[in-house]
Amino acid sequence: MKNGKVGMTTMVELRLDKFREECGVVGIYGHPEAANLAYLSLYALQHRGQESAGIVASDGKTLHLEKAMGLVADVFSEARLRRLKGSFAIGHVRYSTTGTSQLKNAQPLMAGYLRGQIALAHNGNLTNAEKIRHDLEAQGSIFSSTTDTEVIVHLIARSRELNLLEASVDALSQVRGAYSLVIMNETELLGIRDPYGFRPLSLGKLGDAWVLASESCAFDLIEAKFVRDLEPGEFLLINERGLHTLRPLPPAPKSQCIFEYVYFSRPDSLLFCRSVAAVRKELGRQLAREHPVEADVVIPVPDSGVPAALGFAQEAGLPFEHGLIRNHYVGRTFIEPKQAIRHFGVKIKLNAVREVLEGKRVAVVDDSIVRGTTSRKIVSMLRGAGAREVHVRISSPPTISPCYYGIDTPTRKELIASTHEVEEIRRYLRADSVGYLSLKGLHEAASKEPQVGMGFCDACFTGRYPVPFTEEDHHQLRLFNV
Ligand code: SF4
Repeated sequence: MKNGKVGMTTMVELRLDKFREECGVVGIYGHPEAANLAYLSLYALQHRGQESAGIVASDGKTLHLEKAMGLVADVFSEARLRRLKGSFAIGHVRYSTTGTSQLKNAQPLMAGYLRGQIALAHNGNLTNAEKIRHDLEAQGSIFSSTTDTEVIVHLIARSRELNLLEASVDALSQVRGAYSLVIMNETELLGIRDPYGFRPLSLGKLGDAWVLASESCAFDLIEAKFVRDLEPGEFLLINERGLHTLRPLPPAPKSQCIFEYVYFSRPDSLLFCRSVAAVRKELGRQLAREHPVEADVVIPVPDSGVPAALGFAQEAGLPFEHGLIRNHYVGRTFIEPKQAIRHFGVKIKLNAVREVLEGKRVAVVDDSIVRGTTSRKIVSMLRGAGAREVHVRISSPPTISPCYYGIDTPTRKELIASTHEVEEIRRYLRADSVGYLSLKGLHEAASKEPQVGMGFCDACFTGRYPVPFTEEDHHQLRLFNV
């Protein structure tokens, strides 16, 4: 938690200790209110990025761009949306994983080149972007942002292929890593998932219009119907002739991000063909089977721990209560009073309910522990509210490795589980017991087929990275991810 002095008070950053999702993307094709629908869809995806928001719309001849730093509802005024004319659009919400948090790095990125205009929005992280960028700069290319995404724009613009689809295939055959993309020119929309399928991208339908979105919760808000997920490696072109799909790149082992189920996605989304809420509940059930506890009450760390805590309570036959209440109206930062208040950053977001906790043996369920700082304060808060025992249950395995595929994670040495055994973590948290879900249990809950390694990336739990790194990649990624 970063503290910065502001006059006589302290500005406290209020993010809880979590991995952070990086971006959300949307695309709308064939609707007279395309920009408005993109705006609403981005609003539904706000949890995937809160630093900047942007939309590009096409009127068939010209692309129009509006983007700014801030939340979706703050960025887009009516006047701004009116300027986004046309029947198709793409949009993006961003939390920075590469490049700094500045307007020049906000997406969609838009560029003019020999064959017209293109705009692009990216969810993921390229592992060889710095190398490509270096090579392009050596050949005279000038970059206007510090994001990995811009290399894709350059590669498309430099391609000898004449149409958007083939130029995109050419460009993406040169990059490695994680990408779910929406790309448009004046007349066509393209949705793409990388061959590993790290990040999600779904197709929906609204009347005659087509919708692409990182998560299906965006479809629900605009009353579009979920059609299907794009397949890993799929390029889906949407134009006046309809839908055209192909898989032009060499196939790769399916490696969908299992952490989307644990924490990132909204529980009301359908993701990788399954309900996120149902998977999270199953994670909780499995956790109760693996780490039973003699407790009087099960409580979640809200909001992300709620479905797993429900599953845990049901499987254990214990009462489920809300013992921690979350204040949803706190922004990112807060000015702390001059008089220091212990654990202020967590306290302003979460408060313990004494009536639920007093004299009880409490099982508290959370989705993950990153550095352990927040969990330690929560344990202390529960004891302060009268809990007799505090048993921490985590609905994922210990997080031991950083993510290089588009998730904001601390460095390895900051991850408490990379350097501490479970018993050491228990002592640090001052909990009566700590139980993590096993890797096998995680995969069983996430897969229809109960087999470890069934189509998911689990590198942050295992250190086994599906996209191999060269020494040089590792060096560049460390620079990107610090
Ligand atoms: S390393 Fe973890 S967070 Fe990153 S893609 Fe793999 S499972 Fe997801």
